[in-house]
Amino acid sequence: DIPVICIDGPTASGKGTLAAAVAQRLGYHVLDSGALYRVVGLAAERAGLPTDEAALAAPALAQRLGALAERLPVRFADGRIWLAGDDVTDAVRSEAAGMAASRVSAVPAVRAGLLALQRGFRRLPGLVADGRDMGTVVFPDAPLKVFLTASAATRARRRYEQLISRGETASIDGLLADLEARDARDRSRAAAPLKPAEDALALDNSEQTIEQSVDTVLTWWQR
Ligand code: C5P
Repeated sequence: DIPVICIDGPTASGKGTLAAAVAQRLGYHVLDSGALYRVVGLAAERAGLPTDEAALAAPALAQRLGALAERLPVRFADGRIWLAGDDVTDAVRSEAAGMAASRVSAVPAVRAGLLALQRGFRRLPGLVADGRDMGTVVFPDAPLKVFLTASAATRARRRYEQLISRGETASIDGLLADLEARDARDRSRAAAPLKPAEDALALDNSEQTIEQSVDTVLTWWQR
């Protein structure tokens, strides 16, 4: 049995940072499943396919997006993300790409299309997977599932600092509205809604340093 630690939670709760740090401490692989949905959004745009909610209601488009997800030419290497030979690391991190990801991720065919790809990340010596449905859908047998949360204000501030440090412009109020819209969509969608797995352990990191959160997860893992 190849070990998997799942870290699920809302937008900008610090899942990626926590997953990377825990993986580094354990020497495990990482799955950033949100990046896959972001790449699907980008691939759709490049294929000239619309991703607005009205268009996504059409079954033919949903099917095409599902097919695109299923044979997504994505590669993760040395901290970069490649889509069919193009380095899309920066492109997928934009706020617009996050919103597009949130819309395409509500399409059941897209979620189904990404399942095998995600499960393929489970390799020795182990995996830390971050997302919304790692513990509920993708790796339901995982021995440790963490549901990571932080207050909306904390998450908006972190996201703001992240974007500013990358030279993007942003407003805290705009980001707060964006992340609340994404969370509302993630929670209310029919396909794999964002919710803690029944056996998930809750961790609120609003008042914690990264080191404290890492230590908490490692303590849970070791017992
Ligand atoms: O985590 P990140 O912000 O990169 O994810 C982008 C979007 O992809 C999320 O807002 C969410 O709607 C979707 N997502 C998902 N399931 C996952 C990971 C991300 O639906 N496992």
